[in-house]
Amino acid sequence: MKIYNFSAGPSILPQSTIENTAEAVKNFNGIGLSILEISHRSKEFQAVIDEAVSLFKELLEIPQGYSVLFLGGGASMQFCMVPYNLMEKKAAYLNTGTWASKALKEAKLFGEVVEVASSKESLFNYIPKDYTVPADADYFHITTNNTIYGTEIRKDIDSPVPLVADMSSDIFSRPVDVSKYGLIYGGAQKNLAPAGVAFVVVKEDLLGKVTRPIPTMLDYRTHIKEGSMFNTPPVLPIYSAMETLRWLKGLGGLAAMEKINIEKAALLYDAIDSSRLFVGTAKEEDRSIMNVCFVMKEEYKELEAEFLKFATERGMSGIKGHRSIGGFRASIYNAMPKSGVQALVDCMKEFERTH
Ligand SMILES: *Cc1c(COP(=O)(O)O)cnc(C)c1O
Repeated sequence: MKIYNFSAGPSILPQSTIENTAEAVKNFNGIGLSILEISHRSKEFQAVIDEAVSLFKELLEIPQGYSVLFLGGGASMQFCMVPYNLMEKKAAYLNTGTWASKALKEAKLFGEVVEVASSKESLFNYIPKDYTVPADADYFHITTNNTIYGTEIRKDIDSPVPLVADMSSDIFSRPVDVSKYGLIYGGAQKNLAPAGVAFVVVKEDLLGKVTRPIPTMLDYRTHIKEGSMFNTPPVLPIYSAMETLRWLKGLGGLAAMEKINIEKAALLYDAIDSSRLFVGTAKEEDRSIMNVCFVMKEEYKELEAEFLKFATERGMSGIKGHRSIGGFRASIYNAMPKSGVQALVDCMKEFERTH
């Protein structure tokens, strides 16, 4: 039976990423050594990180003046690195979920944090739109895709101050106007690579403005200067990221990827909206095209456990919803084929027919 991986993260990766990474582990580039045992300073690995950075810039059409970094510590490390490097006195945060709340909490260690709006009162099922960003904030932080609640900011918004975005779970799902952002970061394990590396795209002229001393490892300028090799970088996840970026380019880039993602999401949301049993949890206009959250209607709640078993038996893996909202979450990241979404839809319809 074919198993479809709907996990929220770590999550599905392109088959070519998995196969070529496996080959590189056994015999990297035919050099007779594993990528696990060669120096990160070897010319072979330098070529890998160079290609990963260059594809990153090409696919996102990153303008001059920005650096692309690969760092350890995951997205969560960026929750503190961002304020460490960018906040002198005050920063603004939009609170749209668990990850946004964690980023906001960390920033409070560095100065005044203004929560411009929050959708917490309704279990983060929408993106607040009516808010004002203080003009004297050092930056404005948003989370473009709320992995747990299935909401997404899919338009590049205008901000009066440098815009900082956690794009952990929707990076490369659509074209992005990078010039509207001061800094973009995320963990790689949702749409790019296995766990172990975070990516950062930073506008260089925002750095060097805070008066506090910054520890060497937490200072973006260290990593820009050393090309992400101040210390030993996460070699294997960077290799896999390069493979995924090659795959994306081969597919036609981000406009082509977005088109497929929109089709996949529409297929699943249409099935939910026309269902007698299921109902979506996120407000329609803010629905994520990466994480689709749904529950059973009140009168059918007792069928949830049964559907989970039914779907799992038919090869749908990882669709149990996050404990904070329950029900189901189908993560349909870039690497999920349309046939996988169709299989889930068929499974939902069959369940509905028989219950
Ligand atoms: C998964 C996730 C994180 C946490 O990433 P780590 O790399 O585990 O620190 C942060 N933000 C968002 C939006 C996520 O989806």
